[in-house]
Parts: sequence; structure tokens; C-alpha cells
Amino acid sequence: MALDVNAIRNDFPILSRVLPNGHPLVYFDNAATSQKPKCVIDAMTQYYEQYNSNAHRANHTLADEATQALESARNKISSYFGTNPENMIYTSGATEAINLVAYGWARYNLQKGDVIVITEMEHHADIVPWQELSKEKGVEVRYVPINTESFTLDMEAFDVALDGAKLVCVVHTSNVLGIRNPVEEIILKSHAVGSRVLLDCAQGAPHERISFDNMDADFIAISAHKMAGPTGIGCLLVKSDVMDKMGPFMTGGSMIRRVTTDGSTFQEGHAMFETGTPRIAEAIGWGAAVDWLSNFDMKEVHAHVHNLAHFASQEMSKINGIRIFGDPSRSDSSGAVSFLHDSIQSQDLAILLDEGGFAVRTGHHCAQPLMDALGVPSTNRASFWIYNTEEEVESFVKHLRYICDRFS
Ligand code: PMP
Repeated sequence: MALDVNAIRNDFPILSRVLPNGHPLVYFDNAATSQKPKCVIDAMTQYYEQYNSNAHRANHTLADEATQALESARNKISSYFGTNPENMIYTSGATEAINLVAYGWARYNLQKGDVIVITEMEHHADIVPWQELSKEKGVEVRYVPINTESFTLDMEAFDVALDGAKLVCVVHTSNVLGIRNPVEEIILKSHAVGSRVLLDCAQGAPHERISFDNMDADFIAISAHKMAGPTGIGCLLVKSDVMDKMGPFMTGGSMIRRVTTDGSTFQEGHAMFETGTPRIAEAIGWGAAVDWLSNFDMKEVHAHVHNLAHFASQEMSKINGIRIFGDPSRSDSSGAVSFLHDSIQSQDLAILLDEGGFAVRTGHHCAQPLMDALGVPSTNRASFWIYNTEEEVESFVKHLRYICDRFS
């Protein structure tokens, strides 16, 4: 059954917004952050209006309600990702989740000379922590290149890089190219050489039902705000035997068992990594978001988004001067279409698109090594999600054609 996109749109108050220039908003910046359905906004408002309190700290009614809501959100979210609440650590997003692997696992378990394999396609969140750890511990960071014809990972180079690897960190779906990497093959091959695997699912989770236990990755990093949830929250999913070998990353309140002037002992399990006041409203909002997303078959969501991206790229490539990066015709490609015009600067193009009401992202997308591999400093990126329509894509292509005819 196809998605009822019109009904879905009614759940998002912002989608009926008219911009100050009089144009209705056409939101094509979903890879940066998705919009939030009313049920998410309401759940967060209800927390602040009815039971705002700190969690895990007091014995009064409000504190009990806040604690219960925080933990019930953990149950829902972990179950949505096909795993147990014990395997989920709340973080501020995918960035903090990856840093937690670097500083809570790799720092304790890797030695000088150990190899970490990453790819040229990674977001900076999955590059910089490894570069910093390399400076601190002397681990070697190897980069798997991309094939710039197919825009896919060079899997032969991956096989070579894997020799001696202790940790492989790969983006599930590229935020620039929209391409999904062969993560199942990567996990199997990495485990075969005894390496742990971290998947950056910041872009995968909005387009695919991620099942942590079935996928068998050792770590999965996720941000809520790209999948209808609020900003400021995400999680790291971790296998139990791997979590047992992690040590503290951030220290302070909540994560301790006993503090004396001689030193401190720590909580076990996910509690050791959740320091300070929890992100209570955000967790409640994310719980509401996974409830909302559970109404849909993610295969249909992927098909819808893929069709929009494919259609957009086909029509855009008919416009003189437009070059597309990525291959939106691939069935595993999701909703991001990166493009450039050969004579209109990407910033100018974005401003001209905004004048028509179209919100697209411009820049290096926190993926400068990928930009270097593509030989460009930046791209424009239109990224689609569950509530976007073919009519929006048609009007976008029309406006883009008008800009290109007029200004090039
Ligand atoms: N990885 C990828 C692939 C991303 O697209 C992003 C967000 N742009 C991140 C990691 C970082 O996510 P956050 O900023 O929510 O921590």
C-alpha cells in the first residue's frame, strides 16, 4: 500500500508555512534535520507543562513521572531498533555516540599501532575522533577510497585495508551521495578478521528499519533529529559483551556509584555513560517519534523517497550545466541528491532557490575528504523525506531550470 503523503503532511504544522517572501515552504533539507510531527511537539510540551522534573533523583510524584517517561522512551526506542534497553546509551546525537566509541571503548581497548579503518565517505563526526585518538594513542587510521565513477566504496581497497584491523567505522548511508554502503558484507568481512564494527546510521535510520541485533554490528550511532525526533538526543547501541569492556568517557553526576575524597566508583552498563541531567524532554519526544514512525513500513518510506530522488535527478540532469554527484537510480540510494551548476556558485544557487521557497543545503556537508575525492569544494544538496511530494519536486525542477536559464 502506497504512503498517504497528504495525510502524513497534515501531521507536520511547519509544512503549511508560507515564507516571508510569500512562497510556500518546500523543505528539501531533510538530511540536515527532518521536520517534527505534532505528536512529538505535543509530547515535549506536555512534559514541560505537566511533569517537568529531573529524573533518577527524587521521590516526589513529578520526579517519578519524569523518570518513568525517560525509561519508557528508552524501552520504545531500543525496541524500535531491534534490541534491549540495556544495549542503548542515550547521547546528544550521532557525533557524541561516535566520540563515546572513541573515548569509551577504543581508548581502553586499542594499543599503539592498532588499525582503525574508516572511509573517505565519512561525515567529520566519524573522522575527527579517530584522527584525535591517533594522536593520543598512536593508532593507525586507514581510509578506504571511493570509486568516483560509481560513487561507491572501493571494496577491493576495503579488503586490503582490513588486514590487521581492530575497528572498522563506516557510514551506513552517505549524507552527500545518498548511497547505502554494503554494510552487511562489511560487517561479515570485518568480523572474519576479528575487527569490531561501528556503523554511523545517522542517515540510515530515517530510511530503513535498523535492527541492531539482526545487523550484528558492534556499535550503531544514531541521531533522533533526522528521523522526526527532536535535536539534542541520539544514542549509541552497543553489544553487551562490548559494553562490558568500555570505560568512562564523561564523568560527573549520575554515572557514579560512590564518590569519596579518595576517588570514585562507577555505575555499570549504560548508566556509566549517561552523565549529568538526562535529556528528558528530548527522550520523550524521540519516543513519540518512533511511535509515529512505527505506523509506516520503512520499505515503503524508502521506496517513496528513492522515487522522488530518482525522478528529481533525472529531471535535473536535463538542465544545462547541472552535474549530479551520486547515483539516485540505484535502488539502494535514498533521498539525497547532490548537485552543482558549472557556472553558478553553489551559495548563489542556494539563495536563488530560497527565493522560490526551496530549502536546500549548500557546503561541504561535514565531509571534506569526500569533497576532495570528488574534486569540488562544496555541493548543493536536495534531500527528501516521507512528506515530500512529486509536485514539490516538479516545482523545484521548474524553478531550478528558470534560474539556470536566467543566470548562466
Ligand atoms: N553522520 C552523518 C552521516 C550525518 O549526516 C550526521 C549529521 N549531519 C552526523 C553523523 C552527525 O550527526 P549529529 O550532528 O546529529 O550528531
